[in-house]
Amino acid sequence: IVSVRDVKKAFGAHQVLRGVSLEVEKGTAAALIGPSGSGKSTILRCINGLVDIDEGEVHAAGHAVHTLHSDKDRIALRKDVSMVFQQYNLFPHMTVLENVMLAPINVLRQSKDEVEARAVELLAKVRLSGKEKSFPGQLSGGQQQRVAIARSLAMRPGVMLFDEVTAALDPETVKEVLNTIRDLVAEGMTSILVTHEMRFAREVAHQVFFTDKGLIVESGSPKEFFDDPRDPRTREFLSHVL
Ligand code: ATP
Ligand code: MG
Repeated sequence: IVSVRDVKKAFGAHQVLRGVSLEVEKGTAAALIGPSGSGKSTILRCINGLVDIDEGEVHAAGHAVHTLHSDKDRIALRKDVSMVFQQYNLFPHMTVLENVMLAPINVLRQSKDEVEARAVELLAKVRLSGKEKSFPGQLSGGQQQRVAIARSLAMRPGVMLFDEVTAALDPETVKEVLNTIRDLVAEGMTSILVTHEMRFAREVAHQVFFTDKGLIVESGSPKEFFDDPRDPRTREFLSHVL
């Protein structure tokens, strides 16, 4: 359902992706792990069309992403391939419920009643029932991030991309966000997770990809990856983070 083939991308003279390939099967979760600056966020941005690639092919949720050039095509792509960021960027003057309802009403043009019923359901799924009328500023960081996840799900995406979504959170609230993602993966949401939470990656991901300097230098099951890393760069990295 997601396929990245030999993707290259430079920003000016800086070759940020040097031939990245990965495949993620429908209903599975992949973790993308690697040092800062190795290209993890750029890979996600290539998958949802925020970054135009120089060479290679990207297919995601039925879209040939590397062939899309119009804004209309990109908007259609992002309905199906939704990205959640470290900064959740909720609208502060709108309630939690209104934040979740906004895109389906404006983009999908669904009726307000239908959208509201679904938004209430999604807030229950991310364990925020009762917070519908709250404003983002009244919630913890972890709660706000779960609203952001519900907002993404409201578009019924086929693929979810998570870019270090717990990196800015207090330790106490990290767990509730990870639990939400774990639930989604258990339900079969095809997901790519960029994370520094190694224990979580090991438990939740079906596959791990390790990036270094714009290349995927190792991939495998979490067990292979964490218990028996082959590449010296992977070993070096894991020796610092485990
Ligand atoms: P981190 O763990 O710190 O988030 P990352 O693996 O996500 O790192 P990327 O954000 O993909 O790394 O960045 C890879 C490299 O590309 C970095 O050197 C970064 O400075 C550069 N880069 C990313 N986006 C741009 C851009 N729009 N213009 C110029 N350089 C960029
Ligand atoms: Mg990043």
